[in-house]
Amino acid sequence: MIRELLEWKFRRQRVGFVPTMGALHAGHLSLIEEARKHCDHVIVSIFVNPTQFNKSADLENYPKTEYEDIALLVESGAHLAYLPGLKEVYPEGYSQPHYELGALESVMEGSHRPGHFQGVAAVLDRFFQDVAPDMAFFGEKDYQQLAVVRQLVRLCQFPIEIIGCPTLREDHGLAMSSRNMRLSTDAFKRAGIIHEGLTNLQKAFGKTADAKLLEETIAQWNEQADFETEYLTLARADNFQSPQNGEDLSRHDWRLFTAVNVEGVRLIDNLPLRPE
Ligand code: AMP
Repeated sequence: MIRELLEWKFRRQRVGFVPTMGALHAGHLSLIEEARKHCDHVIVSIFVNPTQFNKSADLENYPKTEYEDIALLVESGAHLAYLPGLKEVYPEGYSQPHYELGALESVMEGSHRPGHFQGVAAVLDRFFQDVAPDMAFFGEKDYQQLAVVRQLVRLCQFPIEIIGCPTLREDHGLAMSSRNMRLSTDAFKRAGIIHEGLTNLQKAFGKTADAKLLEETIAQWNEQADFETEYLTLARADNFQSPQNGEDLSRHDWRLFTAVNVEGVRLIDNLPLRPE
């Protein structure tokens, strides 16, 4: 990879980077497509990063489909697949730095998955140094992660442009995710209710914040067998702070964020409060 990179850089060609944890789906491929529009060469990494898993069972059950992934990458037009081993990313004696992520760590994914964003920052710090791309592409499906990436780039002063890309969805609205393949057919179908609930909330919210609307949606979701909502929050798109009940919503951009466990599989999603 380093040999290829040096040659591309010597020729002043632009390098785009799409980090993934594999079990690739159309959402990942849309990032590669976007990267190809902006860059001469696209590098896709596949690495199931242990430092970002706060539960060992979640790490063990994370789907691994390496051969299918490589086949998809060949078709996708990506130029280089980077599948580092654990020791290449975290060598003997490596000690994980602490990253100042501020309030990002105290809400939603930050508070529900302690250490998760520190692990995300750690692996991207390593990758951004090794790959040194001009641009890196991330999905808005992991909206809070996108903010963590931007914060990491600021903290470490990486000369990398970060591009956020829209969420790709299944026909019934469920956000595409590698984790979806762990759902039973029945639960996969019923999980469409998550996106439906979010779009109904877009219509239901008036000019002011109303916590009752969120509670009603949580109750509807939790009525489904094997559904357990971790959180459903309205928060500012820029700093993820939640409004006071009754607060005027016209002065900021707001988003709905949720994490729902379906058959023990943790699904996340988000949508802007006012459709774009
Ligand atoms: P992951 O393999 O889950 O770590 O995801 C790798 C990248 O793909 C991240 O930037 C994700 O935000 C992005 N991604 C995952 N699912 C989707 C989706 N449904 N639509 C667009 N991007 C996605």
